[in-house]
Amino acid sequence: MKIFNSLTMKKEEFVPIEPGKIRMYVCGPTVYNLIHIGNARPMIVFDTARRYFEHKGYEVNFVSNFTDVDDKIIKAAIEEGVTAEEISQRYIEECKKDMAAMNVRPATTHPLATKEIGGMIGMISKLIKKDYAYEKNGTVYFRTRKFNEYGKLSHKNLDDLRSGFRTLKVSGEDEKEDNLDFVLWKPKKEGEPAWKSPWCEGRPGWHIECSVMAKKYLGDEIDIHAGGEDLIFPHHENEIAQSECANGVPFARYWMHNAFLNINGTKMSKSLGNFFTVRDIAAHYDLQVLRLLMLSAHYRTQLNFSEELMASAKSSLERITNAAGHLLDLVTNGADGELTEKEEALLTEARKFAESFDAHMDDDINTADALSDIFELVKFANITTTDGCTKAYARALHQELEALCDILGLICDVPDEALSAEVEAKIAERQEARKAKDFARADAIRDELAAMGIELMDTKEGVKWKRKA
Ligand code: AMP
Ligand code: ZN
Repeated sequence: MKIFNSLTMKKEEFVPIEPGKIRMYVCGPTVYNLIHIGNARPMIVFDTARRYFEHKGYEVNFVSNFTDVDDKIIKAAIEEGVTAEEISQRYIEECKKDMAAMNVRPATTHPLATKEIGGMIGMISKLIKKDYAYEKNGTVYFRTRKFNEYGKLSHKNLDDLRSGFRTLKVSGEDEKEDNLDFVLWKPKKEGEPAWKSPWCEGRPGWHIECSVMAKKYLGDEIDIHAGGEDLIFPHHENEIAQSECANGVPFARYWMHNAFLNINGTKMSKSLGNFFTVRDIAAHYDLQVLRLLMLSAHYRTQLNFSEELMASAKSSLERITNAAGHLLDLVTNGADGELTEKEEALLTEARKFAESFDAHMDDDINTADALSDIFELVKFANITTTDGCTKAYARALHQELEALCDILGLICDVPDEALSAEVEAKIAERQEARKAKDFARADAIRDELAAMGIELMDTKEGVKWKRKA
């Protein structure tokens, strides 16, 4: 299996530190608001990578933090007149609901920054002892120039970085030895959450959190560190500096970064106000549609969010769910008995879709091409079952389809209650339209249902429906 490593800028063969096991850390969201669908991109793509690693037989220790102490959280708390903890707890709960609705599995561990302060004080003390950090008036800074390899992830040159910083004077930071030095610990301001430390009552900088949580839950050396590409500099660069100077060993072997989810060509972000929350989307769509949309592009290519893309993802998902529904019907209503010889040959042929799927996923988690393999399988299933088949054949194809969808975290079987609620609602709306002699609307609803793979039958007892064969 090959993974593109941002550290070397190359696709590399993946070799874990410990055979059969993967230690993976993904930077999680800062919890001061509902997450937007840009934040959902790393959640969906790295959940999919994890599912694929597990499919390959790896045991994955997957750690993803919640940043629950931060300026934005404190600002939100002041605005609402509540504690920072109340804000972060509320949005952690909401974030977990969104993750579940997107079928993103909970991490093995979701550490909270505020519960790991002791470890952070420990690592900062060690960095001071090793002369990689220094304290000035209660603030502790990392001595960037002491780490020769600084810039190796972002491929930035230290001198260029320093000259770029020269013009930027950050107030209160004149005391730093060097413009590139960054904060590990800072004194509290009035009303802010704070913890006692050897330097002052205060709170940690953002970067030290991840170095400490990765170390505690995964060890000094980890296999994969992941996050959005905006985190490469300075966040991940600083994590490398802290971890490698404190632990004395290379931090992460493979760095994976997802590209942005854009809107009209610009990065979707809270600060620009050009975002949709996952909740906004959930009000109009099944979040499986959003998941499919995210996976329809390779994770390292930018994705421009639009209504048209959502509509197309919706119909793509329906192609899958219709085929799965049709196969399930045949599992009940197909011919009894063993697979025919022809069916056995067809199943052998169908296995090539799963092989191609794996080959695409082995190539740096290419979900876009892996999805095409699923659509090829869907087409194959539709064609080879038009004239009926055995239950056994339908079951085998359904199993293959379900297994591939499951690796991508897509649910191919629409739960019957959900489907019937939707269909019944549309049938009722159609009856209303007919009563009002709005036949165009009534026909449009019949067409919508047909597109969902539902056939209507007018019977003496009223309108009945079934999945189209
Ligand atoms: P934040 O809450 O801003 O720290 O972001 C949490 C995660 O979402 C990080 O991995 C970010 O890189 C990622 N992220 C934020 N906005 C976007 C976006 N528009 N597209 C892709 N990833 C994003
Ligand atoms: Zn991080």
